[in-house]
Amino acid sequence: MDMASYVAAIDQGTTSTRCMIFNHSGRVVAVDQVEHRQIFPRAGWVEHDPEEIWSNTRQVCAGALAKADLVTSEIAAVGITNQRETTVVWDRKTGKPVYNAIVWQDTRTDSIVNELAADGGQNRYHRKTGLPLATYFSGTKIRWILDNVDGVRARAEKGELLFGNMDTWVLWNSTGGPDGGLHVTDPTNASRTLLMDLETLDWDTDICAEFGIPTSMLPEIRSSSEVYGHFRERGVFGGLPIAGILGDQQAATFGQACLSPGEAKNTYGTGNFLLLNTGTERVLSENGLLTTVGYKIGGNDTVYCLEGSIAVTGSLVQWLRDNLGLIASAPEIEQLARTVDDNGGAYFVPAFSGLFAPHWRSDARGAIVGLTRFVDRGHLARAVLEATAFQTREVIEAMNADSGVPLKSLKVDGGMVGNELLMQFQADILGVPVIRPVVSETTALGAAYAAGLAVGFWGSEEDIRSNWAKDKQWDPLMPEEKREAEYRQWQKAVTKTFDWVE
Ligand code: ADP
Repeated sequence: MDMASYVAAIDQGTTSTRCMIFNHSGRVVAVDQVEHRQIFPRAGWVEHDPEEIWSNTRQVCAGALAKADLVTSEIAAVGITNQRETTVVWDRKTGKPVYNAIVWQDTRTDSIVNELAADGGQNRYHRKTGLPLATYFSGTKIRWILDNVDGVRARAEKGELLFGNMDTWVLWNSTGGPDGGLHVTDPTNASRTLLMDLETLDWDTDICAEFGIPTSMLPEIRSSSEVYGHFRERGVFGGLPIAGILGDQQAATFGQACLSPGEAKNTYGTGNFLLLNTGTERVLSENGLLTTVGYKIGGNDTVYCLEGSIAVTGSLVQWLRDNLGLIASAPEIEQLARTVDDNGGAYFVPAFSGLFAPHWRSDARGAIVGLTRFVDRGHLARAVLEATAFQTREVIEAMNADSGVPLKSLKVDGGMVGNELLMQFQADILGVPVIRPVVSETTALGAAYAAGLAVGFWGSEEDIRSNWAKDKQWDPLMPEEKREAEYRQWQKAVTKTFDWVE
């Protein structure tokens, strides 16, 4: 394999599946991407078709290879990164899913959460798992499938069914499916199930029993960077090692080279996810943040993060496009927002899936407040963009309170960071500089790094650091008094969304 000068990453995201090929400097050589169907069977339910996603995965891998004009042997290794928490249960003999994938945003498990929280409260698993009980995490979704799909519990108890997040679904299928497929995950994904002990990185059998989930259906937890196995010979990437797995937000943290305690990044995609590296220390939040595994590189010590997860940011822009038709494409929102000077007094709290960090209120629903006859579509577009920045400030305040050290600057990435108006407003409302790297596809890059490190394509984390380069920085320009007044209005708006669901 001396000719192998590239590493590939499969990024199985919420809205699309991508394959990206990187060179040794961490620059993108080729991308192929396909969107998949978002299935909304009822209010609050969100599903994906796992077979569609697996078919898209093969397509984009072949597509990226062709666009890069490379042959398989020029790729040193492949990494996988994925939308986290999204849950698939399938038959180990046939490879058929027993139900659609239940997506992270889905709130159908509300009653399971309430039932479990009735005994011990929302934080009953916090110390062990770093997470509050919430619909967000995989455990409640597995339980729902076992309870609600005909015959599934019995089949699971007989050991016929497998659970996986999208990383495991892609890995199992890539390595042969029913014919020897690897049923493996990494600790970053496993740390989002509510079923893993953060200290031992093993499934917690007590919690699994309380959830009613047979441990036989859970994948083996390996590290985030090692050769797990190889692509089946007959097929795309045939014979290549799969050598890295990181959940998408942890991958972005790695790709942003946030490799030392105190370094943080914020990803602006469907939702927003701010992760702060806390080193080998598991910091338990007192302010509504999650404690999660950041990465575990081979046999090295586990690195942990504090995370502020926001469910709805970029997807609010999509909502403005798809549900209201106010814009034809997501980037157009910037033009519309620039038709006015400010939000005209309007605040939009997009509690579509309840509110995640730092509130964890599944009873919240969205609200637009402060409306007068004056407010027009431009103001609404501004309020939509500002919602992302205000929610980010809430999370950063929680992070500063937990860590005791105020953040001095924020590294950003993801689909929304092309929006200059938003980036300036973000710097204004935080009062610290916002910094965008040259490669904003940090999620795929992080997975590529994990895979490349495992096969010696990159030598050490120092290579990752030296590949990172700044593209642009926004400094705060808003006067302090205005910044605080705006934020107070936002906080007031948030309280209007509580207690909506009876
Ligand atoms: P994901 O990885 O979660 O699928 P991406 O990082 O690809 O998401 O980001 C896509 C999101 O960013 C979409 O929700 C879209 O609405 C939003 N988006 C893309 N471009 C812009 C823009 N210029 N301004 C505002 N939002 C944008």
